Amino acid sequence: MLVVAIVALLAATFMGRQSITDGADVNGLRIVKDGIVSVAVVPVSDTEVALVDAGNDKSAKAILAELSRRHLGPDAVTTILITHGHPDHTGGVAMFPKAQVVALEAEKALVEGRAGANGPLTRLFPVSPTGITVTRAVADGDKLILGPHSVRVFAVPGHTQGSAAYLVDDVLFMGDAADAKSDGTVIGSPWVFSDSQPQDRASLVALDERFTRENIRVNIIAFSHSGTLASGRAPLDAYAAGSK
Ligand SMILES: [Zn+2]
Repeated sequence: MLVVAIVALLAATFMGRQSITDGADVNGLRIVKDGIVSVAVVPVSDTEVALVDAGNDKSAKAILAELSRRHLGPDAVTTILITHGHPDHTGGVAMFPKAQVVALEAEKALVEGRAGANGPLTRLFPVSPTGITVTRAVADGDKLILGPHSVRVFAVPGHTQGSAAYLVDDVLFMGDAADAKSDGTVIGSPWVFSDSQPQDRASLVALDERFTRENIRVNIIAFSHSGTLASGRAPLDAYAAGSK
C-alpha cells in the first residue's frame, strides 16, 4: 500500500512537466539527459569541460558518451558545479577524479553524506558518506571563471538548505529549485522532495527581484528535471508576480 502511494505521489509530482531534450544546445552549452535528470556540459577549452551536476548514474554513461563524442575522457572534466546534494545530481561525481567539486558551503554536509535532507520523502533516505568531497565551497554572489565563461552563484535555499542556482553566461541553471511545466510556465520545487516549499518559493521571488535590482540578464532557464525555457526571464518573473 505504501509503495502504491509513493508511486502515485511520484507520478503526480512529475505529471505535466516539460521533458528533457537530450543533446540540446543552449548557447554553446550542451544538455545531456541521464534518465530522469539532466547534466550540462560546459566547454572550457579544447581539452577541458565543466559540468553542471553529475547525474543519477554512478557509471556516468551518458556523460562519458558526450565526452567521447568530443574525443575527451573523464579527466577532461575540471569542474563540477553541484546544484544540491540529492543523489540524482551527484551520482557520477566519482567518475571524474580530476574535477574540483563546487557547492555552496551550506550544502557540503549533504553532498558529502554527513547529513540528511529534510523533505517529507528525502528525510527517509539513509545518511552515509558518499565518498564525495566538496573541494571548493562557494558563497552566494561568488563569481567563477571557467575558460571563456563567467559563472555567478546564487543561494536558493528551500529544496535543500544549500541549493544553488548557477548563471553560466546568460543561462540560469536552477537545479531542483524550480521546474518548467509543458506550457512553459515555471513552478517551484515539489513538496515531497523539498526541505521547505515556502522557503523555496521565497528564494525564487528573491532571485527574480535580485535580477532586476542588479540588472542581471537571463536568456535561458535550465531545469534539472524539465529541460530548458528560452524565453528570457519572463517565466520566472511571472512566477514571482503570482507568488507575491
Ligand atoms: Zn533534488
